Amino acid sequence: MDQQRTPEDTLAFHGARLTVDLGAIVENWRRLGSQAPGIPCAAVVKADAYGCGLEAVASALWRGGCRTFFVAHLSEAVAARAALPEATIYVLNGLLPGSGPALVAHRLRPVLGAREELEEWASLAVEAGRTLPAALHVDTGMNRLGLSVTDALACAGDPLLDEAGIALLMSHLVSAELPDDPVNARQIADFARVRAALPGIPASLANSSGIYLGSGAHHDLLRPGYALFGGNPTPGRANPMRPVVHLEARIAQIRDIAAGESVGYNGRWTAPAPRRLATLSLGYADGYPRAASERGHALVGGVSCPILGLISMDLIILDVTGAPGARRGDTATLIGDGLDVDAVGRAAGTIGYEILTGLGSRYVRHYVGTEG
Ligand SMILES: *Cc1c(COP(=O)(O)O)cnc(C)c1O
Repeated sequence: MDQQRTPEDTLAFHGARLTVDLGAIVENWRRLGSQAPGIPCAAVVKADAYGCGLEAVASALWRGGCRTFFVAHLSEAVAARAALPEATIYVLNGLLPGSGPALVAHRLRPVLGAREELEEWASLAVEAGRTLPAALHVDTGMNRLGLSVTDALACAGDPLLDEAGIALLMSHLVSAELPDDPVNARQIADFARVRAALPGIPASLANSSGIYLGSGAHHDLLRPGYALFGGNPTPGRANPMRPVVHLEARIAQIRDIAAGESVGYNGRWTAPAPRRLATLSLGYADGYPRAASERGHALVGGVSCPILGLISMDLIILDVTGAPGARRGDTATLIGDGLDVDAVGRAAGTIGYEILTGLGSRYVRHYVGTEG
């Protein structure tokens, strides 16, 4: 965060600017929660809050009323704890060897996914002389983290669950963004069976898209990440979220080229006719994917301008022939103003999640929408 510089100074200082609307994040958190009235909504803020900045995002959500947070790593959890002294913070990647003492010291809750982890956490609780809360992950189809459904069912009545302080039962959906995939119904049914076998433990299944799969996926705690940051949890349908991220870069130079001239590294694009080019002060080192070369667009004065040739480390060349008013120093929008993260992901042959989490640490993040 950069409080000294004005937004205009930021553009002069770096040439590109990432604006994050914290008010929109909090509003998206409320909208997601309103899909399941009465059920608390947590926030997944792993990967530096999907590239938006953990400290600023977590603090804004806390002020908005969010009390439970999920991150992937101990390092992220320690940073979240520094920002949120009273929050409940879960560490999704679990109890990695050697991480126990730090988890205990920072009052963090690992998401345990194997018997060894349960046993190790239980013995840390004995050492600490008190119950240490944790979550239990049940793998209902991902084959990634968690006890198998069979092993979880076999835990019924096992005192180890209490000894390991299991305060949340959770599983993760494989294809929640594809509502017609039959795997959703299978996972929802398996998770319900495990939950019934282990009564008295609150449960959580739904990620962003899972929230839109109906009440069978809701249980006791919603667990969205991507949609908080403006990603569409309902692909193929209108995006119910407010946009959060606005990425702009300045035009460093404008030039006119003749038919037959080529552009960028390896001359990958050759002008079929005279063209006007704008060179933007942003490249793949800023997190804009090189895979969007010749496929992505940026908006200049509201006009969609194609990216020409290969994206460079620090620069992008745009065809601004259709935006003749473009001038040196003007800004082009790479994400925002209707060019959403899902579209940028498609242009780069990936998903919006990777675009957000790839947002570089190079430009200064500018926060808006903080009302206190
Ligand atoms: C990342 C993650 C989430 C959030 O998923 P989104 O699709 O970003 O909403 C929820 N649960 C687990 C286990 C995750 O790893």
